[in-house]
Amino acid sequence: MMRQQIGKALSRAQKQIERLDAQLLLAHVLDVTREHLLAHDERRLSLLQSLRFSRLVQKRKQHTPLAYLVGQKAFYGLDFFVNKNVLVPRPETEDLVEYVLQKIENLKGEKMLLVDIGTGSGCIPISIVKTHKHSNIQTLAIDVSKTALKIAKKNAQKHGVNIQFLKGNLLKPILKQSDHLSISPFDHVFVTANLPYVPAADYKQQPSIQKEPPLALLAGSDGMDLYREFIPQLLKLKDLTSASVSCIMEMDPSQIVPLSALFKNKPEVIKDLSGRERFLFVTL
Ligand code: GLN
Repeated sequence: MMRQQIGKALSRAQKQIERLDAQLLLAHVLDVTREHLLAHDERRLSLLQSLRFSRLVQKRKQHTPLAYLVGQKAFYGLDFFVNKNVLVPRPETEDLVEYVLQKIENLKGEKMLLVDIGTGSGCIPISIVKTHKHSNIQTLAIDVSKTALKIAKKNAQKHGVNIQFLKGNLLKPILKQSDHLSISPFDHVFVTANLPYVPAADYKQQPSIQKEPPLALLAGSDGMDLYREFIPQLLKLKDLTSASVSCIMEMDPSQIVPLSALFKNKPEVIKDLSGRERFLFVTL
């Protein structure tokens, strides 16, 4: 069989998947940049390279996220390892990071504990710790999934940030340890949560998310089961500490009103960049 040229391989693949995806997949197989690939499109592929490329094209065609196929995803200007055990970081979550960075900028001088719940790839706390200019922050990241924590730890190491990881459900690991972890030395506890929130009916209609871990996306038929469990835990955390407790939560726009109602004081509603109500922020 004649060895295939890059340009030919790409034009065949583009009949099956998006053009950009085809380019990124082939660049991944050849371990070159996309620019390099396009500048050398007369180069021929080895048989093994052709085979690997066509396998990836088939998987992409069957809706496997590109990020899983290339093993990474850019988020907040940083590259994160991802695999099928973690949610692929989403652009709207970058708005959450941006918001937290602004808030903690105003809390300079306070001793702060940052806690990320359902950390997944670790993209939220890692981006925050990597970017903030606050001098006194300690960071914890929690997830129920052992395999997700493995990826998050790998990402923390890659970016050289110091985060303590705990395995467990929502805030339980710190509520359990609250006396010896001692939340009291902190002036402020800042909790970030991008919990699973996709309503079951939406999930059924979106083949593109069905290759991601249901554990990271689903929470009962209306998608609010985990927030309904988490919010009372957050109120309990506030009862256990004299520190201020702030929390930002990412959710579906349809959940803003019912979840706000679980707080005595009305949380602030924040829109994402596409203008949809996406986050609630409270200080207790
Ligand atoms: N925003 C994601 C989606 O719509 C859901 C993320 C989540 O459940 N935390 O696919």
